[in-house]
Parts: sequence; C-alpha cells; structure tokens
Amino acid sequence: MARKKIIAGNWKMNTTLKDGVKLAKDVKKKAKLGKNVSVIFGVPATHLHAVKMGIGRSTKLSVAAQNFNANDGGAFTGEISANMLKGISVNHVILGHSERREIFGEDDKMIAAKVSQAINNKITPIFCCGEPLKIRKSKKYVSFVAAQLRKGLFHLSAKDFSKVIIAYEPIWAIGTGMTASPEQAQEIHKKMRGMITKKYNAKIANNTSILYGGSVKPANAKELFSQPDVDGGLVGGASLKAKDFLAIIHAM
Ligand code: PEP
Repeated sequence: MARKKIIAGNWKMNTTLKDGVKLAKDVKKKAKLGKNVSVIFGVPATHLHAVKMGIGRSTKLSVAAQNFNANDGGAFTGEISANMLKGISVNHVILGHSERREIFGEDDKMIAAKVSQAINNKITPIFCCGEPLKIRKSKKYVSFVAAQLRKGLFHLSAKDFSKVIIAYEPIWAIGTGMTASPEQAQEIHKKMRGMITKKYNAKIANNTSILYGGSVKPANAKELFSQPDVDGGLVGGASLKAKDFLAIIHAM
C-alpha cells in the first residue's frame, strides 16, 4: 500500500476556542480528501477536546496536541500528559518542533523520551527536525538532520518506528516566507528515507510519511507535494485560514 499523504496544521498559540472550532469545522465541511489523504489539526491544548468534538468521528481528520510531558503524571505544574490526551481521544502529538527546541530548550534526549512516551501510549508522534540557516549555508545540513533523526527516533524498534510521522522543517523557512525549493525539500527527504532504509529496512522507509514544513502556502504547495519523497506538509500560518488550508489540502 502507498504511504499516507498527510496535511497537518500547526496553529501554535493562535485562535480563541470559538474561532478554532469554527476553523476546523469550516475545513471539514469543504475538504475533499482523496483515498490516501488525511488531515491533522495541531491545536492549542485548551482546544483539543472541543475541536475533536467539533470534527466528530472521522478516519480522515484528526487532532494533534502541540506538545506533552514525557512523564506519566505528578508534580509538573502547567504540563499535560499522554494519558490526559488519551482520555480525550487525541491520538497525535507534534514533538520536537523547532520552537520547542529553541525557545523552550528541549534537547534531543527530552524529545526522544517524549517520542517513546507517545508510542507507549499509542499516540502517533509527528517528529519535527530541520536545520537553522547557518547550518544550511555551511552545507552541513544533511549530517545535522541525520543526527536529529538518530538521537530523536533511532532508539525505536522497527515496529515502533513504523508508527512515526516525520516533518522536515528547515528553521530558516518557518514563518519567514522563505520556502525551501521543491528540489531542496526533495533532496533532504530522499536522504532521510535513505537513512531510514539503512537503519531499519526499505519497506519501513517506503511506508514512512515525511512531511515538509516551512512557509507552505497555496501558491507553492502543489510543486512541493509533487516531489516523490514529499508526502504532505506541516503548515503553520496558512493553516489559520480555512480558505488557504483547504487550497493546500487540495494541492495534495
Ligand atoms: C510550523 O510552524 O511548523 C510552520 C511550518 O510554520 P509556517 O508554515 O508558518 O512557516
């Protein structure tokens, strides 16, 4: 079976509850999803339950948390656990986003622990990786991303790795309007698939969905998604407007 095509939105710290539920419902109403295409809404923690209720039961639409804590529970003021997500039937979580890495100091070790906690709780991690501009310019981006994969994901067994979604998000392209070219995205996605083949096997690599993120817009989505190793997108700014997000979904 062909690997899944996925368009995921990352709303970050945006939208009120009312606006967020309306946004998800508007997308649901108009989205025409092909057989192998699914949509994930990465919403603020306060919105998870209501958005989940708003979109109802669906095999093609899901809700993702933008973070959680790797511990089971206890004295972690302000945090939410995997178990809390499971309690409201949230089955996806975005992990290792560059904003979590850079602003909140999450390192590879913490992200690896969160990945394991997600898998152990039957939550699908959307694992983000990607290099800053300095590394891109130094041409060392392949080894930089390889290290992120190795440290954040490659502790998993083959069976568990096959449950992961990957999002390649070059930091220089996030929220900047500076999208990676389709060729730049394809180059690194192909390299990542090669690393997965080497670590696990070709079957697992071929079944892993690798999304591109970084200023995906209606105008550039089709070209990006037409690359053989780009299996969809993780979309920030453009996921906040139903019209734009729908155009991106329909470019898949
Ligand atoms: C993101 O935050 O994951 C992202 C890709 O943002 P944007 O699409 O706004 O660049």
